[in-house]
Parts: sequence; structure tokens; C-alpha cells
Amino acid sequence: MRIAVVGLGTGGATTACLLADAGHEVTVVERAEDPGPVGAGIWLQEMGQRVLDRLDLLAPLRAVSRPVDRVQIVTAHGRSLVDLGYDELPGSPPALGVHRGDLFALLLDAVRRRGVPLRLGVPVTGVRPTAGGMTVETASGDLGTFDLVVGCDGARSRVRSSMGVTLRDREYDYGALWAVVDDPDETARDTLFQCLGGTRTYLGVLPSGRGRTSLFWSTRRRDLAPTVAAGLPAWRERARPYAGPHAALLERVEALLPATYRDVTVRSPYRLDDARGRSAAVLVGDSAHAMSPQLGTGTSLALADAWTLAHTLARTRVRSQGTERDLPRALAAYARHRAAHLRWYQWTTRLMMPVFQSDLTPLAWPRDALAPLLTRAPGVPRLLLGTLCGDRTSPWGRCELPGAS
Ligand SMILES: Cc1cc2nc3c(=O)[nH]c(=O)nc-3n(C[C@H](O)[C@H](O)[C@H](O)COP(=O)(O)OP(=O)(O)OC[C@H]3O[C@@H](n4cnc5c(N)ncnc54)[C@H](O)[C@@H]3O)c2cc1C
Repeated sequence: MRIAVVGLGTGGATTACLLADAGHEVTVVERAEDPGPVGAGIWLQEMGQRVLDRLDLLAPLRAVSRPVDRVQIVTAHGRSLVDLGYDELPGSPPALGVHRGDLFALLLDAVRRRGVPLRLGVPVTGVRPTAGGMTVETASGDLGTFDLVVGCDGARSRVRSSMGVTLRDREYDYGALWAVVDDPDETARDTLFQCLGGTRTYLGVLPSGRGRTSLFWSTRRRDLAPTVAAGLPAWRERARPYAGPHAALLERVEALLPATYRDVTVRSPYRLDDARGRSAAVLVGDSAHAMSPQLGTGTSLALADAWTLAHTLARTRVRSQGTERDLPRALAAYARHRAAHLRWYQWTTRLMMPVFQSDLTPLAWPRDALAPLLTRAPGVPRLLLGTLCGDRTSPWGRCELPGAS
């Protein structure tokens, strides 16, 4: 099929590689003129790692990242709330602390090696069904037509808006300031560290490989710009009580950058404008299910989407061979395969968000009182670690990547 992939982030680059490998004629359209290695570290769970392994990217990624298989959450008063290691969940490989730029560089190289045409510096404004298929609309004119458009254009997806499938699209009141600092001694070692002050403040410390560590400072969205404007010395003063053993890292911060989060749900991740599947668009990654990064699973979910879409499309033959009805079936299968996995992470994230980042400060008291007990209760560490591993569909269910075994 002729497929346009809109957006060259983690989801778009992976989708482009998998679909090109399956023999589709893929074109990538990305708004950035020179997509580069920018962004904070990410915590990459095993589910995402498995997809990268299929592209032979896991080994090179491991070489530049750091196993991060402990989670330590404390309060600014020194109370330990959570202290869990992945070794408590037998058979679960460690998550990786990865610099977003390192992951992106590997994926971009993989896309280029496949010879996928890249249309860079082209912001997409929407998609539109036409007689010959799906047209991609841009400020500088239409592109296409395509048999399928895959919207991988992130939380503020223009592809999603023009498909008219959005059920919920809400910006959270809280976001974060982030920085990546040199940390040759890798002081946080294998631990994701978070120190909480009520529900309004926290400092997160994520080892990100190659002697770098990412810092996250939770802030109300409206306070992001004022905090930056107040300058680094003022911020360091506020952050120091939360830094625990990592206080020295605060001194190495050269700039704080803002990030905001959205909560996105769609009625359906795909839309057909012709029952015979002649005009179709489908969503992958944050465009379909952006969420707060509280659980550190957004990247793994986008990678699982990409894998599943490529798998379900593998059953679709090009239209000229007379099996055009396969595309609707493949897209329905994609939606079905992804539903339970995405629902679990969306709901868990929504439940956690007020407890970690909100103005509901009274919630901090039961959280601080109960978390140390709950995280030692039988079965709870497994449930928490299982959810963090990124492959759960319920407290008991696991998401299998179709065709991956
Ligand atoms: C502060 C922060 C920390 C995070 N930490 C983690 C973590 O630890 N672990 C984890 O798994 N996830 C984390 N996430 C979530 C993760 O970043 C996302 O889930 C993931 O990047 C989604 O990938 P994507 O490809 O769907 O979207 P994106 O990575 O957002 O990529 C979208 C791409 O589309 C392009 N684009 C956008 N609009 C257009 C347009 N109109 N036309 C053309 N191109 C367009 C963009 O330039 C971009 O290249 C974090 C997010 C934030 C904000």
C-alpha cells in the first residue's frame, strides 16, 4: 500500500520502519525541518524494548542507556513511600534509562537506511478522503493520495482532529520542568528517585545513560514560565530539600525546559470513509492516547501500537490484487488488539495523577500514611511492578504483542 506516516517521533519512526520492512511504499511527513536529538530522558519498559529488538535496535540502545530497575519514592520529610526492585517480579527484565536523543538517533538512522522518503519541514494541517484515497493536507498544498495515513503526530495531533474521532482532549493543570545534566558518577545508579512535597511538588531523578541524568520538577502549568523566569538560583533553593543524595546535580542544571501533558482518548483509533477501505486513517502513539508520563509508559505504548498495526496490516494485500476489503478488517483488528492494554494505562494514570500532581493536597495524607503499608501488602508489589513493566491489561492480564512469540 501507499502509506503516509505523519510525524517522525518514536511512534512514527518505528511505524515507518516496520511498514517499509513489510513491503509498503511509505512516506514520512514531519513538521520539523531538522528533527534532532532533543528531550529529557525516558524510562523505557520491557514491552517497548521488545519492539526495538525486532528492528535490531535494542543492543545499540542498551550500549548507550542504563538499566533502571528500582523505584524509590520518598517525601521531603524523609518518609519512604515506595522502594521496589524489578527483581521482586521474577522474569521481568529491567527498564532502561534512555536519553530521548539517543533513541531518536537510532530510529532516524533505521528509517534512513530503509530509504524511506522523508518530507521534513512540512506541518500537516489535516487529512481528507478523496476519490483515489486519503490526501494529506499541508500549508504548502496537498500530498498524496495514499491508501492509508498513519497519524503519529503526537498529543496535539492534526490528523486526529480532522478524523473527528476525539472523545477527550484535556491539558493537565500540572506539567514539569526538565533538564539533563552531566553525571559521570551516575549517582542515582539503577534507581528512579522521586521526592514528593504534598501533591504539588516533586523532584524526579532518572539515570539516562552515558553519564547523564534527567531531572524533572513538577509544577503547575501556569507556573512553568514564571519559575523559569525567576532564574536557576531561586529554583535550586526550592528544589534542594527534595534532592536528597542528588543535591549536587542541581548545581549542574544549565537550563530548565517546560513540558505539558494532555489526556487524550479517541472513540476509535481509525476512520474509514469508504466501506471498501479506499480512504483510511489510523492513529499510533500519543495522537490516540496521550497521557501524563506518571507511569513512564507512553513510549512503550507507542511502540506496541506500531508493532500491532504492522502485524494486522501484514494480512492486507494491495488493492490491485482485489482484496481491498482486508484493510477495514485489519484496522478493526488493530483497534481490538490495543484496546485493553491502553485502557489499563489510561485509567491507572488518571487515578494516579491527582495523588502525585494536583491541587488536591489532602490526598497526600492518606497517600503518605498508606503507601508504605500497601507496597508491602501481599500481591501489591507484583501488581505495581507488573504495571510499571508496561504490558498489563488488568491486575492479572498481560498484553501479548500479536505475532511476536
Ligand atoms: C516530560 C515528559 C516525560 C516523559 N517520560 C516518559 C518516560 O519516562 N517513559 C515513556 O515511555 N514515556 C515518557 N513520556 C511520554 C513519551 O514522550 C510519549 O508517549 C512518546 O514520545 C509518544 O511518541 P509519539 O511518537 O506518539 O509522539 P511524539 O514523540 O510527540 O512525536 C510526534 C511527532 O510528530 C511531529 N508532529 C507533530 N505535529 C505535526 C504536524 N502537524 N505535522 C507533521 N508532524 C507533526 C512532531 O514534530 C514529532 O516529531 C514523557 C513525556 C513527557 C512530556
